[in-house]
Order: sequence, then structure tokens, then C-alpha cells
Amino acid sequence: MAHIRLTKIFEFEAAHALHNYDGLCRNIHGHSYKLHVTIMGSINGDSTSPKYGMVMDFGDLKQLIKPNIIDEYDHSILLSSKENLEYIKSENELFKRTHILDFQPTAENMVIHFAKIIKSLLPAGIELHSLKLFETASSFAEWYAEDQ
Ligand SMILES: [Zn+2]
Repeated sequence: MAHIRLTKIFEFEAAHALHNYDGLCRNIHGHSYKLHVTIMGSINGDSTSPKYGMVMDFGDLKQLIKPNIIDEYDHSILLSSKENLEYIKSENELFKRTHILDFQPTAENMVIHFAKIIKSLLPAGIELHSLKLFETASSFAEWYAEDQ
């Protein structure tokens, strides 16, 4: 049975700052992130199945990614644990939706982080093929299973 790739595109808005960066990105600023999730698997050949002809129902893929990535990270702040976190520790309302990450919140590190989460969610027989995370319309990071 042929292996086919499926891609679904998700969007979320988030702010981040790059710790110790030597430019403007050291300041908190926002991005309209676009995440392209590409999975791979065999087409369901069971004509009695409601998923006949599909690798995975696009709706099912959405139901995995939306609550675990999009709802989690949308309108949040992504900061390295190396930042001075005084403001957040003071339970300032502005920082309620902050993710303190044990890595620099670059697009590169975020795709690695998202790949780990998504791989743990996919059903048997479906593999994560690749992720593309657009930080801007012209800048993105890619994670490919074959490169790991
Ligand atoms: Zn940025």
C-alpha cells in the first residue's frame, strides 16, 4: 500500500524573547506563527470503514494538534528559563500565559519541542514526517524525521 503524506496547517500568535541575543529579538515581541504538520502512513483500504481511502482523517489530526499545541501556546509568552523571571514569579496578570522553557525559544528549538509532543500523540501506523514552523512569512524552521 502506498505511503502518502498529509499536511495540515495551524496558526497561533505568541510572544517570545531571545535570552542574551545581540539584537532586537532580546526584547519581548510577537509573531503570527504558522505550523505545517506533515504525517505519513498507508491509505485505509477497508471499504467498510468510515475512514476508507484516508491515511488519517484531517479532523482527527486537528483534534490531536489543537488542544495540545495551539490552545496551549496561542496568546502565550515563550521565555527561556535563563531569563530574569522575577515578574512572572510575582504572579503578574500579564504573564499568566507564560511558558518557561529549558531552551532558547527560537523557531529551531520550538520545532524540536513540537515534534516530541506530536510524536507522542499520533496513533499507531501514523508517523510524523516533518514540521515547518513559520515565524514570519519569509522565515521558517523545518524538522524532518529522516534528519534526526
Ligand atoms: Zn522573534
